[in-house]
Amino acid sequence: MKLNKITENVYYIDSAVNMGLIVNEANEALLVDTGIDDSVARKVKRLVEECGYKLRGIILTHAHADHCGGAPHLVKTTGAAVYATATEKPVLECPVLEPVYLFGGAYPPAPFHNKFFLAGGVGVDEVIAPGAQKICGCEVEIVDLAGHTLGQAGVAVAGVLFCADSVIAPGVIDKHGIPLNADLAGALETFNRLEGRRENYYLPAHGTLVEDIVPVVGANRQRVIDTMECIKGLLESPKTVEEILAVACSNFNININNMGQYYLMQLTIMAYLSYLVDRKEITTEYSGNRQSFKK
Ligand SMILES: [Zn+2]
Repeated sequence: MKLNKITENVYYIDSAVNMGLIVNEANEALLVDTGIDDSVARKVKRLVEECGYKLRGIILTHAHADHCGGAPHLVKTTGAAVYATATEKPVLECPVLEPVYLFGGAYPPAPFHNKFFLAGGVGVDEVIAPGAQKICGCEVEIVDLAGHTLGQAGVAVAGVLFCADSVIAPGVIDKHGIPLNADLAGALETFNRLEGRRENYYLPAHGTLVEDIVPVVGANRQRVIDTMECIKGLLESPKTVEEILAVACSNFNININNMGQYYLMQLTIMAYLSYLVDRKEITTEYSGNRQSFKK
């Protein structure tokens, strides 16, 4: 893990989740995401302080534990203020909501009680919305990147866009099989928005720094289209969610072997079904207390 300079006063910290760091004239730093836990947070804090910067603020792009799990430690040890969108704020502040929504709204069982699904809670000091603004003395633009989660935000500064999980590196798409998107309409709009941006550099949280985001967006959009076609093809005859999930996952070489992975994939499939129901491309039928989706 090190501090990589992108442009004047804008850096990124490479890790399992890439983090952004923006520094103002007073050597005060604004961090974009925190990594998953106290251990990552400690390293980030040391790195920032070794460079002579004082951590003043943290923008959390979305409320997934691998992005926000380090926040409680950083807030406790530096007093940094936390910024997030109104939609992500409730889950950041009451993190059990994430495994709760994954497990159908019920109390999540033991396999969800770990750092991958259940971050420590952190209070959001200020709600942010898309647009240009000054945060901790840094001129930034908050960019709407809804799709992966309902309220995901990106941060643009000095020709750099921190893209969070709106797109993943083309090389990682096959590893994921079907990338996680909670809102397909939002994701497709976000893809278009990204292609219209004119930044010099883009940093997906899972991937490497790129100068051209268009091929990255193209690969992500193509996987969404392929998944959509796969699911629609399946629904020539009625199928339950479980049947759709099993065939779609096999089609993209996904091999589910634990509860967390199963419910993440279920959420992903539900987003496609939601999109197709709302566009009246598919409908439901009920028989023997079973719900099936069909064209
Ligand atoms: Zn995420």
